[in-house]
Amino acid sequence: MNLHEFQAKRLFAEYGLSVPRGLPAFSAAEARDAAVALGGERWVVKAQVHAGGRGKAGGVKLVDSAEAAGEAAKHMLGSRLVTHQTGPQGLPVGAVLVEEVRPIQRELYLSCLVDRASERVLFMASADGGMDIEEVAAKTPDRILTCKVDPAAGLQAYQCREIAFAMGLEGPQINALVSIMQAMYRLFMDKDASQVEINPLIVTEDGALLALDAKVNLDDNALFAHPDLVGLRDASQEDAKEHAANQHGLNYITLGGNIGCMVNGAGLAMATMDLVKLHGGQPANFLDVGGGATQEKVAEAFKLILSDASVKAILVNIFGGIVRCNLIAEGIIAAVREVQVGVPVVVRLEGTNAPEGRQLLAESGLAIIAAEDLDEAAQKAVDAAGA
Ligand code: ADP
Ligand code: MG
Repeated sequence: MNLHEFQAKRLFAEYGLSVPRGLPAFSAAEARDAAVALGGERWVVKAQVHAGGRGKAGGVKLVDSAEAAGEAAKHMLGSRLVTHQTGPQGLPVGAVLVEEVRPIQRELYLSCLVDRASERVLFMASADGGMDIEEVAAKTPDRILTCKVDPAAGLQAYQCREIAFAMGLEGPQINALVSIMQAMYRLFMDKDASQVEINPLIVTEDGALLALDAKVNLDDNALFAHPDLVGLRDASQEDAKEHAANQHGLNYITLGGNIGCMVNGAGLAMATMDLVKLHGGQPANFLDVGGGATQEKVAEAFKLILSDASVKAILVNIFGGIVRCNLIAEGIIAAVREVQVGVPVVVRLEGTNAPEGRQLLAESGLAIIAAEDLDEAAQKAVDAAGA
């Protein structure tokens, strides 16, 4: 789950990280009032979407009157902001952040994430902040600094100082960076984050360090431990199908192809997608209906798959280990009737009571294409989608 910048900055402030003074606004009038309440003469109005690259896409506007802040908010609210991170449909803007303008001397990059290879929390830093960090990493990898945290010892001050030296910080800025990195690490660990990113971390004109942008991603699997954070979810920023799947306990990820896949077990789902690709097809989704696939779940899964207009065939691949295939077959038959599936459905059942399951499908009178094994099922689904 991702947080909005204004939510992340609130968390930052709780952890003692310096952020510009700002207020979220959900209407033009609120944005104008926010500018008045903050005081000063210049503000930035920032579209709140779960994506970066807003600056270059018109999602960060500099204004010099409270009226102009309202105008900028009016423009942004209700629109969809397209940045290089959102895809062509963009993301809806439901809130803006009105913030004081802070003059910038330097823009740095600092983030904290899980490095799977070393199984450690990793800090990434760069003196080249503000711009696209992926580009910096690709073109000038030596400009990216990293340090790994020993989970038993925790983040050490000397590690932070090394980063500070390498970024060219001086005097009190060095200890300021130590405090910032330690606060980020505490936040990261306390909240079970998967990423905390500050881009840019700025050096202000008077030499102080300040988080001008804030990104926090939380680990969904640990959300149960953070009831206070669950309410920060903004479903409007998430894929509608993935959100609906979540509600039904289904593990669903939208992909770009035209073959809808319904599989029990994540490993089998991966293998199914591999075989679809091997036979020249493109999966429309990853979907794991789980071990205890019930008729209701199968029906919900069909609805989800069919809500994607690009789906031209459905491949159902069920291994009856815990569940019995005859029950799954009944579920599929009921679901196909209920949901009125209009595209070819290829079904491969294997495992407990597989023959009974296949027989039920054969006798159902529905246009279900049976397959004996996974390879054949993938081939038939690719053929059906292409026809
Ligand atoms: P994004 O990463 O989505 O482009 P940022 O929050 O990083 O959005 O803002 C983009 C740029 O806008 C920053 O690099 C900075 O130059 C400028 N900016 C953002 N907030 C402020 C602010 N409060 N004061 C001054 N400049 C700002
Ligand atoms: Mg940024």
